[in-house]
Amino acid sequence: MDVIVVEPRPLSVAEHALVRRLLDFAIDGADAPAHAAQLAGLRVVELCACGCPSVLFDTRRPTPGEWRTMVADAYGVTPEGFAVGLLLWAVGGRLEYLETYTLRHWPPYRLPGPETVSLEYASDEPAS
Ligand SMILES: [Zn+2]
Repeated sequence: MDVIVVEPRPLSVAEHALVRRLLDFAIDGADAPAHAAQLAGLRVVELCACGCPSVLFDTRRPTPGEWRTMVADAYGVTPEGFAVGLLLWAVGGRLEYLETYTLRHWPPYRLPGPETVSLEYASDEPAS
């Protein structure tokens, strides 16, 4: 994916709240308390260039042949009413990437509020 490099900054209120909520939905085996403890020290250093609100943190990227570790796999609804997927990734035990993706919309869109996070995809398809 193409990224936009930004001046390192703390997570926004919305990013922090969403990541914190996603940790409530951490997959089995993920160390949610350890990741929660990292939040205050994380800095956003890259944005997705596509116009979605995905952000990358100041954690090393996967080396060739290494995979990101999935920490959470959930869904949310953006302020625009878009149902989106939410993935939280770590590398080397440290949060690395908050990924959002859409199934039937195009960016730009904003981050879902933490209260919308669910393990169930809330389809926003018009009833037919
Ligand atoms: Zn994007």
